[in-house]
Amino acid sequence: MVQTITLPDGTLLPALGAGTWNMGDTPARREEEIASLRYAVEQGIQVVDTAEMYGNGRSEKLVGEAIAPMREQVFLVSKVLPSNASAQGVAQSCRRSLRHLGTDRLDLYLLHWRGSVPLAETVEAFRTLQREGLIRYWGVSNFDTDDMRDLEGCSRPGECAANQVLYSLEHRGVEYDLLQADRQRRVVTMAYSPIGQGGALLAHPALARVAARHTTSLGAATPAQVALAWVLRQPNVLAIPKAGSPAHMRLNVAAAELRLAPQDLAELDAAFAPPASKEPLAMI
Ligand code: NDP
Repeated sequence: MVQTITLPDGTLLPALGAGTWNMGDTPARREEEIASLRYAVEQGIQVVDTAEMYGNGRSEKLVGEAIAPMREQVFLVSKVLPSNASAQGVAQSCRRSLRHLGTDRLDLYLLHWRGSVPLAETVEAFRTLQREGLIRYWGVSNFDTDDMRDLEGCSRPGECAANQVLYSLEHRGVEYDLLQADRQRRVVTMAYSPIGQGGALLAHPALARVAARHTTSLGAATPAQVALAWVLRQPNVLAIPKAGSPAHMRLNVAAAELRLAPQDLAELDAAFAPPASKEPLAMI
């Protein structure tokens, strides 16, 4: 895999990771979801993203089972709900997530979105977990530029490792200022729902036209691969598409081979206009 992102301390990670929302919800899909994640890790994908919220622990349990034989190759990410973001809540949630995941540490722990608990209290709770060796890095999710500014007021430069936000051709608002603001702070932007949750985006004719001009080692490129390659073109952005089958995961891994040309980017800009002014951060 070619592209990498750099954490604030200089650690490199592949820019393609794996999302897991809804995994573990459908018993009939369990085996292929586990196979998909194992295939991803075998292919060099390190970042596996889950959250205590997903299926009320079902996703974490499935991820734990999937990565048990390969834990050391995985950079494991989970998230605490804002309703659990107090000092005591973070300590409890993290330990519960670790139990679900069958591991003794998280590589990255994110505040899922901003709630009513003061940021300084959550940051202090993350620091305590770091001192205890239960998490390596911490970060946030769904933080807009003003939230990141507030966070700067109660954390040290380089402490917040990542900000996970919605970013795809359909939701380009972060290009206006947030991507650049994160880069200036050396915060990695994690792009969630990069292929539009497999919905209407993939049927857009512009994606079909661009896909028709490209191939990967698997053959003709697909609209989903183009959508993913488009997110991966951004420096220091880590995309976490969710693929519940090895077939989709193979396609997503191969998407990292695609290099979009200026003509492709212009055509996609014409179909999905970049932001002309500040837009409030979109969330799913
Ligand atoms: P994605 O944009 O990753 O789309 C996932 C959907 O696309 C699934 O239905 C999947 O189907 C399908 N798909 C995957 N690969 C392909 C392919 N190559 N061709 C066609 N269809 C494909 O949406 P998500 O919302 O899942 O976002 C990704 C991850 O981001 C989540 O799983 C989660 O980890 C994280 N997230 C974080 C949020 C936050 O607030 N921090 C909010 C939302 C998501 P199938 O499963 O059958 O392969």
